[in-house]
Amino acid sequence: MSERPYIVGNWKMHGTRAMLSEARAIDRAAERLMKVEVALAPPFTLIHATRKEASLIGVGAQDCHAAEGGAHTGDISAAMIKDSGAGFVIVGHSERRADHGETDADVRAKAESALSVGLNVIVCVGETEAQRDAGEAEAVVARQLEGSLPQADGAVAKVTVAYEPVWAIGTGRTPTVEDIGAMHRAIRAKLVSLYGEDGASVRILYGGSVKPDNAGVLLAADEVGGALVGGASLTAESFLGIVAAA
Ligand code: PEP
Repeated sequence: MSERPYIVGNWKMHGTRAMLSEARAIDRAAERLMKVEVALAPPFTLIHATRKEASLIGVGAQDCHAAEGGAHTGDISAAMIKDSGAGFVIVGHSERRADHGETDADVRAKAESALSVGLNVIVCVGETEAQRDAGEAEAVVARQLEGSLPQADGAVAKVTVAYEPVWAIGTGRTPTVEDIGAMHRAIRAKLVSLYGEDGASVRILYGGSVKPDNAGVLLAADEVGGALVGGASLTAESFLGIVAAA
């Protein structure tokens, strides 16, 4: 596993060109924070401009369509994302799974499409609160990994997994460090069973209400290789607070 923590900001459906100043400030600070790998996933409309403004950090997309192109009004292909200057794409975010009915098979198809054009992928998994309360969290996440992870040759080297319990996203609630560690260990075991020894080097991010004041503790949990950050990535100040804690 890479020694450098990977901190990725997901801007979701936030941001117009006025927000590029935040990306610029994050990028400037990234120069001083070389011990951390930093990336932003702005909305599609800002990928190209973010890439131009920010030369040190990674820039990615929040989703892609699985098809190479065609009659899919309003959708964006992996090749278009690559052409706009992105280096990675997030797939399977729980908001996509919930709002757009995306299945594990859809997520895998998107991931494989992204890999086919040379993008890296962050595959998101995570249980709902009801599933956790029912004691099903690890089984749900294992099933999502089995169904969503790309299987193409060489995929393992380009994949990051983000564990994001649905009930922790945007709520200010987080699992305990012990629960995060237990889930990340279970994800690691599943990655090794699916990808063989190479699964040991896949980065596993934690996501869900990571803030500057809890990042240090959450990132110290077992097998946590970084964070996927939503709300707290929207300003350079809070995002850099997390980067500094990593
Ligand atoms: C996310 O949406 O990926 C996320 C982790 O959001 P937040 O940090 O706002 O909980």
